[in-house]
Amino acid sequence: MSKLRLEGKVALVTGAASGIGEEAARLFAEHGAFVVLADVQDELGQKVADSIGGHRASYQHCDVRDESQVESAVSFTIREHKKLDVLFSNAGVIGPLGGILDLDLAALDATIATNVRGVAATIKHAARAMVAGGTRGSIVCTASVTAALGGSGPHAYTVSKHALVGLVRTACSELGAHGIRVNCVAPYGVATPLSCAAYGLTPEEVETNTAGAAILKGVVLRARHVAEAALFLASDESEYISGHNLAVDGGFTVVSHSYAAM
Ligand code: NAD
Repeated sequence: MSKLRLEGKVALVTGAASGIGEEAARLFAEHGAFVVLADVQDELGQKVADSIGGHRASYQHCDVRDESQVESAVSFTIREHKKLDVLFSNAGVIGPLGGILDLDLAALDATIATNVRGVAATIKHAARAMVAGGTRGSIVCTASVTAALGGSGPHAYTVSKHALVGLVRTACSELGAHGIRVNCVAPYGVATPLSCAAYGLTPEEVETNTAGAAILKGVVLRARHVAEAALFLASDESEYISGHNLAVDGGFTVVSHSYAAM
């Protein structure tokens, strides 16, 4: 197998201007993919695409809450590269913090609009393009440890990430008939603008907090680790894996947090 794990493939990455999406866009391009970066932060997204360079990356404005913008981003990809092999549907927001007794339902809707409805729109239009092109594509979405546990993140965010895993499974059930795989990665806490802004912490403070609560010691989870997992699911190395939620959490979701070790 080539060392370039996405050689000649075309990937669309949402939420690619920053954090995990940026890291994945860079890694996919390093592995030979042509990458279309989609985001709402145009200046930053364009800068990331330019810095990847080598005619391997381009930037498209795409607010995943607006289906027509998602459709345009997919059409742009097909126009430029004639096919779509990989969708990394990664754009997400943290949503409202605070208790369930004071839950802001409009903010819950807004969180779901990006984290669930937006991802559904990307799966719909990317899968349409893959089916039309006869491409045995790979769709990877970004869930979270909060998709498996209550109490490990804000309420609306937790709801949205649980729903995302359901979306991945149901899409997998239909798209397998077309040879398209659908999976997600579920990261533990990573210091990105999303996690830093949510709690008003510096990246160093986020990493200190997450490392302190982590099961796996001696390594700090970084966006690159999550991008590596997404690369695996995007590439042919995971050719028979579909419907899977790949935790990138150092064991956080399979170990009890209630009892001290015996
Ligand atoms: P980030 O803020 O660095 O990146 C998120 C990107 O998504 C930003 O560039 C933002 O502009 C973009 N975005 C937000 N709303 C959008 C929309 N409507 N349309 C298009 N783009 C939009 O944060 P990140 O941590 O890299 O987040 C990426 C994904 O990882 C999210 O889905 C998040 O829920 C998930 N995640 C993050 C962590 C963590 O601790 N950072 C943990 C688990 C899961």
